[in-house]
Amino acid sequence: MNLVLIGPPGAGKGTQASMIAKEFGVRHLSSGDVLRAERAQGTELGRKVAEYMGSGKLVPDKMIIEVILAQLTHGDDAGGFLLDGFPRTVVQAERLSESLDLAGRSLDAVMEIDVPDEAIIQRIAGRRICPQCQTVYHLDAQPPNVPGKCDRDGESLIQREDDRETTVADRLATYHEQTRPVVAWYESKGLLHKVDGSRSVEAVSASLRQVLQGLCGE
Ligand code: AMP
Repeated sequence: MNLVLIGPPGAGKGTQASMIAKEFGVRHLSSGDVLRAERAQGTELGRKVAEYMGSGKLVPDKMIIEVILAQLTHGDDAGGFLLDGFPRTVVQAERLSESLDLAGRSLDAVMEIDVPDEAIIQRIAGRRICPQCQTVYHLDAQPPNVPGKCDRDGESLIQREDDRETTVADRLATYHEQTRPVVAWYESKGLLHKVDGSRSVEAVSASLRQVLQGLCGE
């Protein structure tokens, strides 16, 4: 199966993508992870994209298309692939479609994890992490025993730069402007399956599993 997973930042795409990759044997390819690896290795591309990534803006289409299509062409994905975080613009979606056509392949489904903005803001803005051991807390959903302190090592918890409310609002605006049209584009091609992402991780997993089992004819 060749799949695309789409959703706003904080929708839980990464968690769900890992579940799907494991249960359905497809290769998980996350564009954010690919770019973070380039940045960590200090490659030329990594240096170029660092500024965009820090500000929550999309990196230019040309750069991301090249790197993701190269991964798809050379990677081992005999069991199919699951793209997470790509495509995020209509241009990217068109280029992906052309490239798959050329290779005699096609997408089987695009799954959208739909979460309202208010829920996203509440989820991300309440997130706190321990700078020492990286444990993640949430002010409402998963608070530490002592307010503001890590349960494990007592360190003062911090908010990550890109989790600040203004940055989250910017990331959401980018999603609405550039990525929602991709959802509509796939819908017009009859490939879209929408899942309500405002529920628990387990409930969202169950819905995605149901869609995929339907595709497998199970
Ligand atoms: P993510 O972890 O998916 O939120 O990606 C982190 C950052 O990488 C994003 O904020 C963008 O700057 C960049 N990025 C990831 N995927 C794409 C894409 N398909 N198009 C443009 N920029 C991307």
